Amino acid sequence: MPGADKYSAILLLGGPGSGKGTQGVIIGQMPNLVHLAMGDIFRGIDPNAEIGKEFLSYSTKGHLVPDELTIRVFRHHVEEKIRAGEIDPAYHTLVLDGIPRTVEQVKLLEGVAVVKRVVYLIMEDREALIARLVGRAKKSDRPDDADRAVIENRIDVYERETRPVVDAYNKKLLARVNADQPPLAVLRDVAGCLVGYVSASI
Ligand code: ADP
Repeated sequence: MPGADKYSAILLLGGPGSGKGTQGVIIGQMPNLVHLAMGDIFRGIDPNAEIGKEFLSYSTKGHLVPDELTIRVFRHHVEEKIRAGEIDPAYHTLVLDGIPRTVEQVKLLEGVAVVKRVVYLIMEDREALIARLVGRAKKSDRPDDADRAVIENRIDVYERETRPVVDAYNKKLLARVNADQPPLAVLRDVAGCLVGYVSASI
């Protein structure tokens, strides 16, 4: 794909329970931004289809889906949205939540998107993270949030696989936000990091 055809993107990075989804949904309401959560994209696949079954075989154990498959599913999803007229790549910047999650995905994504800003939601307190995830499991139908062992595993996978993603990006693109604040304060900080980095007005 030639450079001019790549999508513009903002990344929301952070561990499970850091609030990427909460923030992404709101930021994605801005006229020229579209929120895309990789977990939601996977959960939207028919669980009886081959890829849907494959996704569940990983997610219910707290494992990551393989990189090539993840990027393929992501790309296909964006192309569908473009065909449906929901995304106009000339106008929209994608707000990516949950992708890339490995250094290999960073490389694969380079063929698809140009990253304009990386917002890192930092939540150091592991017990507070677990409490958030357990709370979420009670409110939503998330089999991967229901079991403490699976949650612990997802946090470990995050530490091992996803934390290095932060360092894979140029420091000039990176903004750090304290995610251990009330959601509105996090939103204020996230929005502040994006002003001036997204084309047109946000
Ligand atoms: P979390 O709230 O833990 O960040 P998500 O909803 O983002 O969870 O993702 C749920 C599951 O979907 C993950 O545990 C993983 O199995 C799979 N998944 C989501 N995004 C990716 C990705 N970029 N690469 C590989 N697997 C992914």
